[in-house]
Amino acid sequence: MPLIVQKFGGTSVANSDKILAAARKAVRAHQQGNQVVMVVSAMGKNTDTLIKLSKEINEKPPAREMDMLLSTGEQVSVALMAMAIDSMGFKAVSLTGGQIGIKTDSSHTKARIHSISTDRMQRLLDDGNIVIAAGFQGIDEDLNITTLGRGGSDTTAVALAAVLGADQCEIYTDVDGIYTTDPRKLPEARLVKRVCYDEMLELASLGAGVMHSRSIEFGKKFNVPIHVRSSLSDVPGSLIVDTAGTSSLPVSGAALTRDEALISVVDVPDVAGTIHKIFAPIADKKITVDMIVQNVSAGGTTDISFTVPNEEMTDAIGAISRIVTDLRGKMGASDQHVSKVSAVGLGMAQQAGVANRMFRSLADAGVNLQIITTSEIKISVLVKRDVAIEALRTVHAEFELDQPHDDTDAACANEVTSKEPKSSISAVEVINRLQGAGMEALMIDDIALDNTQARITLQKIPNQPGLAASLFERVAAAGVFVDMIVQSHGSDQIADITFTVRRDQLSEALQVAQAVCDETGCQGVDHKEAIAKLSVSGIGLRSHTGVAIGMFAALADNGINVEMVNTSEVQVNVVVDGTDGEKGLEKLKEAFADSVR
Ligand code: ASP
Ligand code: MG
Repeated sequence: MPLIVQKFGGTSVANSDKILAAARKAVRAHQQGNQVVMVVSAMGKNTDTLIKLSKEINEKPPAREMDMLLSTGEQVSVALMAMAIDSMGFKAVSLTGGQIGIKTDSSHTKARIHSISTDRMQRLLDDGNIVIAAGFQGIDEDLNITTLGRGGSDTTAVALAAVLGADQCEIYTDVDGIYTTDPRKLPEARLVKRVCYDEMLELASLGAGVMHSRSIEFGKKFNVPIHVRSSLSDVPGSLIVDTAGTSSLPVSGAALTRDEALISVVDVPDVAGTIHKIFAPIADKKITVDMIVQNVSAGGTTDISFTVPNEEMTDAIGAISRIVTDLRGKMGASDQHVSKVSAVGLGMAQQAGVANRMFRSLADAGVNLQIITTSEIKISVLVKRDVAIEALRTVHAEFELDQPHDDTDAACANEVTSKEPKSSISAVEVINRLQGAGMEALMIDDIALDNTQARITLQKIPNQPGLAASLFERVAAAGVFVDMIVQSHGSDQIADITFTVRRDQLSEALQVAQAVCDETGCQGVDHKEAIAKLSVSGIGLRSHTGVAIGMFAALADNGINVEMVNTSEVQVNVVVDGTDGEKGLEKLKEAFADSVR
C-alpha cells in the first residue's frame, strides 16, 4: 500500500478549524488507499510564545530545559490532531519523538538525528491507524528530550519519509509552494513547479524561508521527492527533486538573508594555520560562518572578514578575541546592519556573464556591494540592510524571475513517478553506506584539485556602486572566463577584489585589471600565475561546520597556506599556492577518508 507523509506547519494547525482541515486532508489520503503519517508542528506561534516565556524567567535558559519546554508545543498539536481524526470516525495514534524512537545526539536545541525506528509506526499503520508524529523533537541516549532547531519539523517529516520508504512527502504550509524568492518579501515572486535539491539547499540556507535546510539534505541523501503545497487550497504546489540536466535560465531563485553581521579581523599573520586558528573556536560553538573573504597579504599580514547570523555576532567575537590577540592581530570593525542577497541556479555553472549582470543591475540601482562571494551555483553580495529589499528586487527582476518561464521548471530532469518506491531502496542503501555514523552524518562524494587557474587581485580600490560591474564587464569583453570572485571588505570606501581565471588567459585579464586600477586609482594589481583550487563536495557541508574547519586543519598541519575560501551547501573551495595543490589534495583525501561514501 502506498505510504504518504504529510507535514503541517504551525500556521496550518493554528486553531481548531485548521486542525480539523488538516485532519480532513489526512483522512482523504487514507480513504484513497494510502497509509498516512502526519508530522505536526506546534500551533501557530506557540514556539515563539514559549521562548518568550522562558526569557522572562531566565535570560539564558539551560538548553536541556529549553528542549523540555519547546517539545510541549508539538505534543499539544499531535494530541489535538489525533482527537480530530477520531472525531471523523477514523483511527489515529499520536506519538512523541521519543515514542517513535527518533534518536538524536545530545546537542540540545540543535540536535541531529542518528536513527529512527520504524517498527512502532509500521505496526500502527498496518493496523489501519493514521500515525501522528510530533515534529521537531527526538531523544538522546539518556532519553533526554531534544529538539532539532527552529523549523525542524520539516526535517522530521522528510526523515520519516526516508526511513519508511514513503512514496511522497507532502509539506503543507501557508504559501502555495516554492517561490523564486520569499513572497512575503517581494510580492512579484513567482511559484516554481519544480526545483532541484541543490538549488533548494542553497535557497533554504539563504533564507528563502520555506524549508528547514536539513530537510533538503535528507531529501537529497535519501532521494525523497518533496512536495511543498498550501494547506489552504488544493493547488499543485512545487516539487523538490533530484537534479539532472540544466535549464537555459541561469538563475532559478534569489534570496535575502536579512539579519547578517560582518566581522573583521585585521593584521593577522598570513601563514599556514591562521585561518584554522580563527575559525576553529567558532566552529566549536557550532556557529555557522557564511561568507569568508581574505585580503591578499600586504607585508606578511592579512585581514579576514566573514559573516555570521546577527544574533550570533557577540558569541562569535567572544570566541575569537583571545586568539586574535595571541596572533598579534586586532578585531576590525564589525557591522550589524548588513544583509546578504544571493542569486542561485544550476544554470549559471554553464553560462558566462551571470555575475556581471547581477553586479550591473545592482550598480544601476545605486547599491554598493560590501562583500562578494561566488560559487558554482550561487553569487552572494553583502549590502547595507536598508537597501536590502531594493537589492533583492533588482536581482529578481534582472533575471526575469518575475516573468513566467516554462523551462525553469524543467531544470531537474528526473520525473517523479509517485508510485515508484525509489526512496525505500535508496534509504536502505544510504543507511548502509553511512555505516552507523548517523542519518545526518556528513556525506562527501568528491575531493578534487583544479590546477589550471591563476589569481588576480586589485588592491585597495575605492569602492562605490558599479565597481564590480564595470570591472567584470570589461574582463568578459576581453573574452576572459572568470571562475571565483571575492570582494573583501577593507572599510566602507575601500575594497580588494580578487578573482581567478584560466592560466592561459592571465595576461589578457591582467591588462584589463591594470587599466581599471589606473583609472580608479587603486593601490596596485597583484597576481599569482599558479594557484590550486581544492574542492570538497557532498551533502551537509555547511550545516556540518566541521568541513571547512577540517579542510583548514588538514592544510595547516601540512604547512599549506589558504589564500581564498568559499563555501556553499554543496561545496567548499579553498585556493592555495599552485605548488601545494597535489599535496593538499592528498592530505584532504586522508582527512576526509571516513566521510567519503
Ligand atoms: N515548532 C518548531 C518551530 O517553530 C518547529 C517547526 O515548526 O518546524 O520552530
Ligand atoms: Mg517551517
